[in-house]
Amino acid sequence: MKYFIGNWKMFGIPKSINILNKINSFYTKDKNRSKYKVVFTPPYTLIQSYSRYFKKKKINIGSQNCYQKDKFSSNTAAVSPYMLRTVGAKYTLVGHSDNRSEGDNDTILKNKVELALRNKLKVVFCIGENKIQKRNKKTLSVLKRQLTKVLDKKFNKNNIIVAYEPIWSIGTGKIPKLNELNKTVLHIKKILKKIFRKKSPPLLYGGSVDGKNAGIFKEIKEIDGFLIGGASKSSKKFIDIIKNYYR
Ligand code: PEP
Repeated sequence: MKYFIGNWKMFGIPKSINILNKINSFYTKDKNRSKYKVVFTPPYTLIQSYSRYFKKKKINIGSQNCYQKDKFSSNTAAVSPYMLRTVGAKYTLVGHSDNRSEGDNDTILKNKVELALRNKLKVVFCIGENKIQKRNKKTLSVLKRQLTKVLDKKFNKNNIIVAYEPIWSIGTGKIPKLNELNKTVLHIKKILKKIFRKKSPPLLYGGSVDGKNAGIFKEIKEIDGFLIGGASKSSKKFIDIIKNYYR
């Protein structure tokens, strides 16, 4: 099963549901639909209404983050995994580089993953090196640390998806060279198999994926789908990614 996950970041108002409606119509008619799942992570403000609307349809709704406490707490503006689950979220991103840069460290991220899983959310755990780490050839060691400090063998691997998102690629139009990406992906899968005893959770790629480059990634069989930022705000661009991937 492949995943096409759209991350809206700080985008969207109630009527933006039209974008998802068009994608839902495409999906229900697509001959390849049994091969993939579509998930969208709109901002917190839209999760309840979108989850209700898509309950019996094909698009799954998730959140972009969650707070590292289980149920209720005195943290202003925080939203817990429990609260997200009660308004219909099925997935949550954890560890997006935007949130890491705002202070989410390995200890916080581990709490988030644990609590999200406990509240029956599927976790999309994001990892990735920055430009300097890449330049200093630290990519593989950075990724190893990010994975092993947070993912625990006791976590249910069936509810975890890992998204490799090189930070230098997010929103820049730059994507990794195919041979480098292949090497990195194999490295990540090897670490995941070690943590989870042979079976690795699905591994997505994220960073400047669009309709033009989507087909290139087909060559790397270990990539189980995509986390898509900018291009997920347009139904046409998002659908183009799916079409070009299966062409
Ligand atoms: C992201 O922020 O998760 C992302 C992948 O963004 P973009 O597709 O715009 O690079």
